Amino acid sequence: TAARNDLSVLTVPAFKDNYLWLIHDGVHAAVVDPGDAAPILAALATHGLTLTAILLTHHHADHIGGVPALLNRFKVPVFGPRSDGIDAVTVALDEGDTVTVPGLDLALDVLEVPGHTLGHIAYVRRTPGLHWLFCGDTLFAGGCGRLFEGTPAQMAASLEKLAALPEDTEVYCAHEYTLSNLRFALAVEPGNEALALRMRDESAKRAAELPTVPSSIGLERRTNPFLRYREPEVMESLTAAGRLAGGATPVQAFAALREWKNVF
Ligand code: ZN
Ligand code: FE
Repeated sequence: TAARNDLSVLTVPAFKDNYLWLIHDGVHAAVVDPGDAAPILAALATHGLTLTAILLTHHHADHIGGVPALLNRFKVPVFGPRSDGIDAVTVALDEGDTVTVPGLDLALDVLEVPGHTLGHIAYVRRTPGLHWLFCGDTLFAGGCGRLFEGTPAQMAASLEKLAALPEDTEVYCAHEYTLSNLRFALAVEPGNEALALRMRDESAKRAAELPTVPSSIGLERRTNPFLRYREPEVMESLTAAGRLAGGATPVQAFAALREWKNVF
């Protein structure tokens, strides 16, 4: 039998630009947002892992589509949001819950982060020195999810919650949208040096066909316009683009930023 190791996270690409996350200790594994079962079954086989849990962030098909096929192979609990309309969920979660992940030495705290969908949740590992965030389609590297169900105020509050996590928190979001997000970010903050540096780094990774995810909360705070809508340069760019009137509130700035990105 294989020896159990420290926890690590495997990146499992799926579809055009999704990342499915497989948390494992060399023996057991928990999957986050298995939109497709085939690449997860392949990764489990390659690494000799047994699936012990499924964790879901929200109801969209590219995040839950593989659940039935995985349950056919593995009788495991399905953790997910209480109120996002996912029938497959067997352990319904609310803000402040802690998931003790079966088979792994892993506890994940639950944050409610409405906006992309109304019931969207995120999972946080708070082990000292090992901070992880699985945030689905809420916070992206350099951007944020579209507002399909929630209001700008809800999404802004959700992102603030995530931005308040420790700087060294690794951000495991569900899509590789980084370069497109950073092109928009540079239009919004042309004077942000950390952002220009990041664009160089992430472009090099993509040229080498490497993922830009995970990111970190510190890097997002320094470069992600959807965490920086209170910055004077962001407000000035919104105004110059004709997208914001004088005297606007921060939430109005956030909403204008999200609308601008939709058509950028
Ligand atoms: Zn989604
Ligand atoms: Fe998605």
